[in-house]
Amino acid sequence: MEIKLLGTGSAEGMPGLFCRCHICQLARVERGKNLRSRSSALINGALKIDLPPDTLHHVMTHNLDLTRVEYLLFTHGHDDHFALRELQYMSWMFVEEVSETPLNLLGPADVIERVARSLNVSDLPLEFQPLCLWEPIRLDGWVITPIQAQHDPGIHCFNYLISDGHKTLLYATDTGWYEPPTWDFLMQTKLDGIVVECSKGPIEGGYMAHLCIPEVIRMREWLLENGVLSPDSPVVTTHHSHLGGMMHEELEQALNPHGVQVGFDGMVFCI
Ligand SMILES: [Zn+2]
Ligand SMILES: [Zn+2]
Ligand SMILES: [Zn+2]
Repeated sequence: MEIKLLGTGSAEGMPGLFCRCHICQLARVERGKNLRSRSSALINGALKIDLPPDTLHHVMTHNLDLTRVEYLLFTHGHDDHFALRELQYMSWMFVEEVSETPLNLLGPADVIERVARSLNVSDLPLEFQPLCLWEPIRLDGWVITPIQAQHDPGIHCFNYLISDGHKTLLYATDTGWYEPPTWDFLMQTKLDGIVVECSKGPIEGGYMAHLCIPEVIRMREWLLENGVLSPDSPVVTTHHSHLGGMMHEELEQALNPHGVQVGFDGMVFCI
């Protein structure tokens, strides 16, 4: 399975759209891996996770060809993951030829309903597949299982187990520390790699809807101790915020010794 991280930033990106903190100022100078667009990932070139407002930037920067994406999987309906109005540009008004193969939208029922309600969907080559928590769905060799994230109690927020029939990835953004049902479910699985959010940098406590560095390390250790993950399986971070106060290299110094790689925009890895 090939995983490409298209974006690895938190909601406001890095540098933050309207932020002048010292990290954002440094990121503007050093650029490179410190420039983080809103989070999204592409798996085997065919399954894309989330549709952030930076999708056109991903098309231009990472050669993303959206006409080749077969499945678009939504984690939740926050704006940095769900720029639903971009889907209108699939219509006959904006393309020479409307695709004959529909794009399959999958995600929590509230997200799918919002797409159907907000767009003139009869004009768009879309198919809709609401997903239910804990229930695997099989599609053309993929098996996708939504698991409960700890993020925003007002909406449905899913993390995903994604299998291509050979390997299984856990995609874990946006979430805070899981509640027992998610750990119990993970205990029954075998993973070959993880993409996990690390929004808060070193900051423990406070806003509990995201993970910090010590929690990411503890999560990997829990998965190793419980035989869910093996020590050589990749654990890669995403959804980093400038408010964590760390540049890419500093994140690497904190995470690499614990077997965690720091994700960056455009990173490709295989499991
Ligand atoms: Zn987010
Ligand atoms: Zn900032
Ligand atoms: Zn969110």
